Amino acid sequence: MPHTQDQRKFVYDFTEGNKDLKDLLGGKGANLAEMTNLGLPVPPGFTITTDACKVYLDSGDEPAALRDEVSEHLAALEERMGKKLGQPDDPLLVSVRSGAKFSMPGMMDTVLNIGLSDSSVAGLATQAGDERFAWDSYRRLIQMFGKTVLGVDGELFEEALDEAKRTKGVKTDVELDAGDLSTLVDEFKGIVAKETGRDFPQDPRTQMDLAVRAVFDSWNGERAKLYRRQERIPHDLGTAVNVCSMVFGNLGPDSGTGVAFTRDPASGHQGVYGDYLQNAQGEDVVAGIRNTVPLAELERIDKASYDQLMKIMETLETHYKDLCDIEFTIERGKLWMLQTRVGKRTAGAAFRIATQLVDQGLIDEAEALRRVNGAQLAQLMFPRFDDKAPGDGKVRPVGRGIAASPGAAVGKAVFDSYTAVKWSRSGEKVILVRRETNPDDLNGMIAAEGILTSRGGKTSHAAVVARGMGKTCVCGAEDLEVDTKRRRMTLHDGTVVEEGDLLSIDGSTGKVYLGEVPVVPSPVVEYFEGRMHAGAAEADELVGAVHRIMSYADRVRRLRVRANADNAEDAARARRFGAQGIGLCRTEHMFLGDRRELVERLILADTGDEREAALGALLPLQKGDFVELFEAMDGLPVTIRLLDPPLHEFLPDITDLSVRVALAEARHEAHENDLRLLQAVHRLHEQNPMLGLRGVRLGLVIPGLFAMQVRAIAEAAAQRKNAKADPRAEIMIPLVGTVQELEIVREEAERIIAEVEQAQGVELKLTLGTMIELPRAALTAGQIAECADFFSFGTNDLTQTVWGFSRDDVEASFFTAYLEKGIFGVSPFETIDRGGVGKLVRLATEAGRATRPDLKLGVCGEHGGDPDSVHFFHEVGLDYVSCSPFRIPVARLEAGRATVTGG
Ligand code: ADP
Ligand code: MG
Ligand code: MG
Repeated sequence: MPHTQDQRKFVYDFTEGNKDLKDLLGGKGANLAEMTNLGLPVPPGFTITTDACKVYLDSGDEPAALRDEVSEHLAALEERMGKKLGQPDDPLLVSVRSGAKFSMPGMMDTVLNIGLSDSSVAGLATQAGDERFAWDSYRRLIQMFGKTVLGVDGELFEEALDEAKRTKGVKTDVELDAGDLSTLVDEFKGIVAKETGRDFPQDPRTQMDLAVRAVFDSWNGERAKLYRRQERIPHDLGTAVNVCSMVFGNLGPDSGTGVAFTRDPASGHQGVYGDYLQNAQGEDVVAGIRNTVPLAELERIDKASYDQLMKIMETLETHYKDLCDIEFTIERGKLWMLQTRVGKRTAGAAFRIATQLVDQGLIDEAEALRRVNGAQLAQLMFPRFDDKAPGDGKVRPVGRGIAASPGAAVGKAVFDSYTAVKWSRSGEKVILVRRETNPDDLNGMIAAEGILTSRGGKTSHAAVVARGMGKTCVCGAEDLEVDTKRRRMTLHDGTVVEEGDLLSIDGSTGKVYLGEVPVVPSPVVEYFEGRMHAGAAEADELVGAVHRIMSYADRVRRLRVRANADNAEDAARARRFGAQGIGLCRTEHMFLGDRRELVERLILADTGDEREAALGALLPLQKGDFVELFEAMDGLPVTIRLLDPPLHEFLPDITDLSVRVALAEARHEAHENDLRLLQAVHRLHEQNPMLGLRGVRLGLVIPGLFAMQVRAIAEAAAQRKNAKADPRAEIMIPLVGTVQELEIVREEAERIIAEVEQAQGVELKLTLGTMIELPRAALTAGQIAECADFFSFGTNDLTQTVWGFSRDDVEASFFTAYLEKGIFGVSPFETIDRGGVGKLVRLATEAGRATRPDLKLGVCGEHGGDPDSVHFFHEVGLDYVSCSPFRIPVARLEAGRATVTGG
């Protein structure tokens, strides 16, 4: 755009903004403005907008008007402060701070003390009456500016600082005096000159402009770009830049800097939470260079500032109606607020705080529901380590990595997949420890209780695959040195952990322990299970909070929630967790175990009679399964899917069987049945079973199979009806691609149901529908609906077929690379891909309803329990989601949230 005519305002004084202008002023700037307008003591300053950044990024130049606008605001600031930027006898100093809408790693670090130079350092010393302070501020400026603006390796400054301390024989930077620091300044300037080929800029305005430009540039730094891709933050938001007059916490013991929370981010309780460090500036307090004191100590150190801070915290909480975190500085007994924002909190605290704020009358129930989410609830449902259990002295924390996949796992350390599999087969629980995992580790990962790696982040192979399996994983525990060759790892303190030593890992916190930490069930699950009542004495505040928010979610949600459950036990649990029916009962699980032999007989049948005999033997067993299921779900819908997987899954493994037959033949005693079985295995072998003979295709080519299943369902329902119960079966056909397939199955099913109804003298009211899990089914959903009472989106297979991904293959082999390259921020098997798979779901929903307005619509893929996906299904207008019993509370909560967040 031609920015000469750009009429926009690019600079806002802190007095001009407010907290709702995050898009324009970034989070930090918007909140600084908000605090300023609340009358809190914020050092004056101004914010350069994200619009200015966008112009710079588009055109490579700051907007023409920016320079003058900055000059105007700077002049006003100088006027107000009574001194000019870098004025030699009394310099105004500022910080230049980045601040995007979302806080982002990879953005430029703040540069403090801008405006100092060779000529103003003496003026600062005189004004402060403290020479040491002035030189300390100057060396900090050159260090921060050199590193973040000029790109000099920060280590060089650190080394020079360490060297100065060594020479002097002291441990901390506060022990260096003015002379030491002025020498250090010379060294720092030398480093800058050597590394950049030019001198550290002495002109204050040049310092400021360069810093502002460096913030703009950092928007497109590699780390920032990667982070945005992964978090799906749009690349065109740009960042704002805050210029803030300096206040000094490093002016002696009556000064200092600190961080605080308005309530405990772990429990939610109100109180005094934070850290304070005397005689310190900026990041010192979190950098761990000196020991901080708990915030409560400030009361003793500086009562007046402490009291004022407490009042300000209350003001902020009431104003933001939420937990806030705060950065503050005290300069010679005067308190200054440097930052606030709505603070991060633990999952438990999120629920507690939300209900506490309702009780305080600060927010209503709908807002409380918006303040929590399903991911937090899921975290609260994992069993956890009992940190209060009396340790046997042998358990101790030994490291911490990235919490990659939640849960608490205990087992013996093994360092390779082979041992993991071997030990777990003999009944041992193992933790697979690797530097990082690769596809060869898959079997070991399956066998292990949990996975621990010393390298890699949230998108590493270990993390992605473990999450896909729902297995506990801690990755990137860099303190642990893993030596897979010698099958051991060395801890930070030199302790060696050998194969077979007990480890405990916490995938929710990333903590690693040596020894066995006792695991306790989650109180929240005890509550959902009905073993603990929200009002009971042993129920803590957390259970009460979860109960209240869940009740509210249930009251407002439109989406119903069903369970994927294959047996009466799961169904009963699902019902306790709040399921309103079964959305997917897989019948293949009913053909395993003892019954596998009957399936073999069916597959091997040469004649119609043999086949019928095999089916006849299966019928009463199937019927029994369904009777139990209808009992557990009496009065609620139960969707039963007819047989879906390829038949070879019921036959012995091809290699095992070949070996058995070969050995037997060598002894001239080959079994006739084994030989036939082997032939069948060869015949049924498929290159690509996922796309082969399965689902409705089986029903159409194996005579009598679906008929047997339909009869079992109908007879079970009839038996329950005759016992005055209320069975509500829905028969579901898998993998339909065209309406003709469904028509044939439907005709036969209707005939059988009519027969059973007549024989039993009942009316069954069974419905018959289909899964929509192939692109063709979605594209022809209008036609398919003519023949279906309901659709259930099988979003797992739909994702596989839309993307052309075979899940088991792609997750292990290249998803890590895709996630790292930011091709998607989250696996499409975890969260529904709205733009592709989701589009087909929407299309099929609309076409299906156009044909048949009363068409019932649900989803039974794992996405049914994923928070983001639940919101999508709500928006699309499905009637229900169905997920594994354990995810039901998450789905209920998110369905409620979907109604109050408006999408
Ligand atoms: P971050 O985004 O990393 O929190 P900040 O811009 O908040 O970066 O600044 C880093 C540190 O410098 C913080 O401790 C902050 O309080 C401090 N700081 C920033 N501006 C000033 C200032 N004008 N005066 C004193 N300290 C400041
Ligand atoms: Mg900060
Ligand atoms: Mg499927």
